[in-house]
Amino acid sequence: MSERKAPRQTCTDHCAGCDAHFHSLAAFDAHLEVDEGGVVHNDPATVVYRLGKKAGSLKLQAWTSEGWCRLQKVGEEQHPVRIWQMEGPGWSGPSASLLKQGGV
Ligand SMILES: [Zn+2]
Ligand SMILES: [Zn+2]
Repeated sequence: MSERKAPRQTCTDHCAGCDAHFHSLAAFDAHLEVDEGGVVHNDPATVVYRLGKKAGSLKLQAWTSEGWCRLQKVGEEQHPVRIWQMEGPGWSGPSASLLKQGGV
């Protein structure tokens, strides 16, 4: 019997602008806000993501504070890092690919 390690929780969508770590493109997108002055990086801890007229809003939540990131610096692994994701289930799948297709 071999001991199973818990899978690493990794940063998959790293923001080079503010060094925040995200686990889905939807979450990454949610912390960005575009206004006249350009792109604003909101604090993931306080940002509220508006989904449109019908769906209301979602917040980002910390997925883990013990995550790993290999995207911040080439050849270096950051640990532990706090990684953000969308609040609630179902946010790592279809919505992320939809956003990818739409472009930002
Ligand atoms: Zn950012
Ligand atoms: Zn990262």
